Amino acid sequence: MRLVVFGRQGAGKGTQSARLAAHFDAPHISTGDMLREAAAAGTPIGLEAKGYMDAGRLLPDEVMLGVVEERLAQPDVLEHGFLLDGFPRTLGQAEALLGITEVDVAVNLEVPEEVVIERISSRRVCKGCGRIYSVAEPPSTNWTCDTCGGEVVQRPDDTSDAVAARLATYQAETIPAVHWFDTKGLLVTVDGVGTPDEVAERLIAAVEARLAERR
Ligand code: AMP
Repeated sequence: MRLVVFGRQGAGKGTQSARLAAHFDAPHISTGDMLREAAAAGTPIGLEAKGYMDAGRLLPDEVMLGVVEERLAQPDVLEHGFLLDGFPRTLGQAEALLGITEVDVAVNLEVPEEVVIERISSRRVCKGCGRIYSVAEPPSTNWTCDTCGGEVVQRPDDTSDAVAARLATYQAETIPAVHWFDTKGLLVTVDGVGTPDEVAERLIAAVEARLAERR
């Protein structure tokens, strides 16, 4: 299974990508998570990425392509395929991706902008393991992660200025990549409003229907 998941920030892309990856038994590759891990570890790419991420700006395509190409060459991907979450983010990245691998389905998780702004401003995340909470559903004790005991905080790029920048970037840079996948006949759009379980069910059904059409 080779899947790509599109969705503006706060659409539930990370949560739903993890579920889809588990369902289809494919490695979940989140470029945002890879960059945050690299930044925390202080690697050269991580240090370069941090400035872009905190400002809500995209890293250059050639840097991202290097990161993704290396990841897609790993044995787990060669055996099980992949679920790409957060890549491609530009038309250039989309074209480059189809130059190095085939994609079976691209999913567009559609959530209106006013809904995502509300979701992002209340989102909190564990610094240790990345588990997602919200102001409405915090960890059980004092912003300490229920899973790993890490500190639960607001992501530096979830502040209102950075969110506005990221949404504008999504519109200008990523929507053309979404349309491009549509012109290739690879895109399915799924309504991302609802409980996580409802959305996951819709997504799995849409992907399976698309795969069945092709068989
Ligand atoms: P995400 O967790 O997917 O929202 O990604 C967080 C940040 O990482 C983005 O705002 C970008 O700064 C950077 N990033 C992640 N994926 C990409 C990509 N494919 N191209 C450029 N920048 C990226």
